[in-house]
Amino acid sequence: MVQEKGTISINTENIFPIIKKFLYSDHEIFLRELVSNAVDATQKLKRLSSLGHYNNELGNLNIKITVDKEAKTITVSDSGIGMTAEEIKKYINQVAFSGATEFMEKFKEANDANEIIGRFGLGFYSAFMVADKVEIQALSYQENAVPARWICDGSTEFEITEGNRTERGTDIILYINEDSIEFLENHRIQSILDKYAKFLPVPVQFGTKSESVEDGNDEEGKPKYKTVEVDNIINNTTPIWTKSPSDLKDEDYLNFYNELYPFSEAPLFWIHLNVDYPFNLTGVLYFPKLKNDFEIQKNKIKLFSRQVFITDEVKDIVPEFLLLLHGVIDSPDIPLNVSRSFLQSDGNVKKINSYISRKVAEKLTELFKKDRKSYEEKWGDIGIFVKYGALSDEKFYEKAKEFLLLTNTSKSYFTLDEYSIKVKDFQTDKNGQQVWLYTADAERQHSYVAVAHKKNYDVLLMDSPIDTHFIQHLEMKLEKTSLKRVDADVIDKLIEKENTEKHPLTDEESNKLKQAFEKALNNANMKVEVESLPADALPVTVTMEEWMRRMKDMSRMGGGMNFYGNMPDTYKVAINANHPVMAKILAADEAQQYMMTKQLTDLALLATGLLKGADLTAFVERSVGAMQQ
Ligand code: ADP
Repeated sequence: MVQEKGTISINTENIFPIIKKFLYSDHEIFLRELVSNAVDATQKLKRLSSLGHYNNELGNLNIKITVDKEAKTITVSDSGIGMTAEEIKKYINQVAFSGATEFMEKFKEANDANEIIGRFGLGFYSAFMVADKVEIQALSYQENAVPARWICDGSTEFEITEGNRTERGTDIILYINEDSIEFLENHRIQSILDKYAKFLPVPVQFGTKSESVEDGNDEEGKPKYKTVEVDNIINNTTPIWTKSPSDLKDEDYLNFYNELYPFSEAPLFWIHLNVDYPFNLTGVLYFPKLKNDFEIQKNKIKLFSRQVFITDEVKDIVPEFLLLLHGVIDSPDIPLNVSRSFLQSDGNVKKINSYISRKVAEKLTELFKKDRKSYEEKWGDIGIFVKYGALSDEKFYEKAKEFLLLTNTSKSYFTLDEYSIKVKDFQTDKNGQQVWLYTADAERQHSYVAVAHKKNYDVLLMDSPIDTHFIQHLEMKLEKTSLKRVDADVIDKLIEKENTEKHPLTDEESNKLKQAFEKALNNANMKVEVESLPADALPVTVTMEEWMRRMKDMSRMGGGMNFYGNMPDTYKVAINANHPVMAKILAADEAQQYMMTKQLTDLALLATGLLKGADLTAFVERSVGAMQQ
């Protein structure tokens, strides 16, 4: 007997085709919405029970999802509070469309289904993205409630009759449409549940699985086993972020990490987030072990709202530099269903951002202070985060000064202050400026590093891609300090001291040497300069000016300074006027002179890695030839 037929109260024509059309993007979220409703209904019942408003047995509260391929239905069942016919009319028919007029105006601007669903409370109606017809069978928890059945075919017509549910709770039955039969495949449902429901607070059952259980004893008294089919619960209802840190051991964090990212290397350490004012947020962030290089693996943090997975695009919620972290964040306060631009200007989101950033800084300070040695061992992995953070977040830099480490070529670690103290005596130039020397590749720039060491100078290792930017940043932040790469000039020019002596050569001799070397180099981009260097320094040194190299590095990294990228590489070739070999060159005949200058410049080029191809072959042959003479 039909109890009531009616029209869903909206004054707009027919809203469903519009919903369907604009919700095309991610149809799979219908399951998230229905399961979330089932969770809510179950949680409400538990609350009523704990408050003494419901005094019957709670019984089994599992949410159950069943797929009937033949009947082409998907059913989401819960044993929550259920609904009366009145409530269905109120919550399903009217509430969903209270925003209908607004919806009609706004849907044009909406970017994705999430936006529409969240803003207009259309969670339940997302079922119509995949179903021709949706049926509700519900029995309210209230005493003497009558079961209710609601059915709607996606038009604005609905029908309510007495239902057939005998136990408290709700079944939502979807009659899957032709375009959506993919959802009748078990593996498809399984994968959607894995994505959205893995940590829901109420057990979710989908299908069964075989399990081996004890079955009495055999004749010898040993236990026997048999295989039985048991409910397959797909979720972990109490993931660690819902627990108190004091109840957790390292092992728990590691196991959870493994659950999130199976087969990953263990993380370095983690941070348990827990705030309830002025916003609500829990979570665990892990510092992953990065594989040697700058391996960018963003979108590893999963965002949840009350244990429902929402997205792994947390770009606007987590500070940019922390996107390399792994883990989970759960917050009911993040407006999940609104557009990107809104998120960016949302006050809560900004607060969350700076909270996370502060927590990370606190954790790093703690690790550094508690066990510096182990912190140093991890520096290779955390350095990138810290440097990236220092670059992109002023407040973080201020805190990071305490635990930001520099490494030198002998693998010692220093904070910025420690390093300044270390090099102050030797590496302050005549203008009172400290010069910090660095190498980007200790192997390739070995000869330059060796020259610096001979002078008692220290050389920092700045060999990660982020260092190019980081160096600029340090110079901006540090007072009276500049950083120069060891091959940016000859050592006495890198750190200029008082009273550099003039060399003994006459102008005429200098010119002669200059011309001889220019001839040997035969390259307009190699600028020869005769300089007064220590007699025991190398006779010829090839260098590239610091600023020029930096600009080139930047433009190579896509820093937008392509002007420099297109400029040819120009080098300075410093001729050491004090080196004894120069007198010999000046005294030699033209052929010998060429031979000597060529050999010396090739050696210098070889030391910088610039001698290549045919020039390198010629050099090798010439050298072998010289041995035979
Ligand atoms: P929202 O969940 O955002 O309120 P929905 O359209 O998903 O919007 O659901 C509308 C309302 O219908 C819910 O607020 C709830 O009162 C009711 N409802 C939906 N599903 C269930 C369910 N499984 N059990 C009980 N009530 C439900």
